[in-house]
Amino acid sequence: MSKPVVFISEPINPLCLEILAPYCHCIAPWLDGGIAGEIPEEATAIMVRTYPVTADRMDAVANLQVVAKHGVGIDNIDVEAATARAIPVLWTPEANADAVAQHALALTLGLANQLLRAEKALRAGQFLDRLEFASTELTGRVLGIIGLGRIGKRVARRATAGLGMEVIAYDPYVDESDLAAHVDSLGELMSRADVVSLHVPLTEETRRFINASALAQMKPGAFLINTSRGGVIDEPALALALDQGALAGAGLDVYADEPPTPDHPFLSAPRVLLTPHVAGLSDQALVRVATEAAEGILDVLSGHRPASPVNPQVLENAG
Ligand code: NAD
Repeated sequence: MSKPVVFISEPINPLCLEILAPYCHCIAPWLDGGIAGEIPEEATAIMVRTYPVTADRMDAVANLQVVAKHGVGIDNIDVEAATARAIPVLWTPEANADAVAQHALALTLGLANQLLRAEKALRAGQFLDRLEFASTELTGRVLGIIGLGRIGKRVARRATAGLGMEVIAYDPYVDESDLAAHVDSLGELMSRADVVSLHVPLTEETRRFINASALAQMKPGAFLINTSRGGVIDEPALALALDQGALAGAGLDVYADEPPTPDHPFLSAPRVLLTPHVAGLSDQALVRVATEAAEGILDVLSGHRPASPVNPQVLENAG
C-alpha cells in the first residue's frame, strides 16, 4: 500500500521530515527552493505555517484527513470550514510560547535601552554621543498586557520576577489571576501602562482594535509591543502616532501583510524596533513545534487521538 501524502507548505525543522518519512511521503516544495502553490490533489495531510488554508483549497483535495498548524496563530486556516468538513485542525499551543514571551521582552528592553540607536552610533564613530542614549528604567513601571493567555501569562511572570514591573491586564475572557491586576477596559489599560504588550489572537473582534482612538490614550512616554498579529493594529494610525510623538516607541514583530512592502510606513517611522516575524523561532521552539505537528499528523492518520486539536468536536463525532 502506498504511503499517505503529507504536503508541507513552508520550511520547517528537518526533524519533522525525519519523524514523518517512515510512514508518509512528504511533498515539500521549499526543499528544492520552490514556493508552495496549490495543495497536491493526493494529499491526505497538510502542515502549514502561514499558508492560507481556505474552504476552496480543502475542497480541491479529495481525501484530506488533517490540517496541522506549525505554531499557534490559526487565523490563516478556515477552521469553521474544516469543522464543517469533519477535518481535524491541529496546533501546537505551548510549543513556542516561551520563545514569544522572551521576544516580547527583548523588544521592550531593546526600546527601553535604545540598543539599536546606540549600536548604530558606535559603529558610525559617534561614541561620544552616548548621552543621547540614556535608557528608561522598567523597574516599578506598569506593563499592560492585552490578552492574558499562554504567552501573556509568561510575559507577566517574567516582567514581575525579572524586571520588577507592575503588571496589569485586559482580557475579558479570563478570570482574575494573581499574575496581573485586571482592568475592565482597553482604554484604562492603554492610559495606565508604560509598556503595552499585545498577546491576543487575530479575530473579528481584535482586528485593528488598536486604532487611532486607542493609541491616543497612551502615555507619551509609553512603548507598544506587538508579537501577536499585525492585523490587530491599525498600522497607518500607529505610523502617524509615532510621527507625532504620541508614544515613545514601538517594538513590532508582525505586520498586517507579510512581508511588509518596501514603502511600508513602519520602515521609515521614528523610534521603532522591527523584527521579521521571528518571535516564535527559538532553536528549541522550532524543534518542539515541528515534532508536535508531525506527531499530531501521525496520530490522526493512525486513528489515534491527537494531543492538541483546535476543533475536538470533529474527533468526538468520529467516535
Ligand atoms: P491564547 O489563546 O493562549 O491567549 C490569547 C488570549 O487573548 C486569551 O486569554 C483570550 O481570552 C484573549 N483575548 C481574546 N480576545 C480578546 C480581546 N478582544 N481583548 C483582550 N483579550 C482577548 O494564545 P497565545 O498562545 O497566548 O497566543 C497569542 C497570539 O500570539 C496567537 O493567537 C498568535 O497570533 C500570536 N503568536 C505569534 C507568534 C510570533 O511568532 N510572533 C508566535 C506564536 C503566537
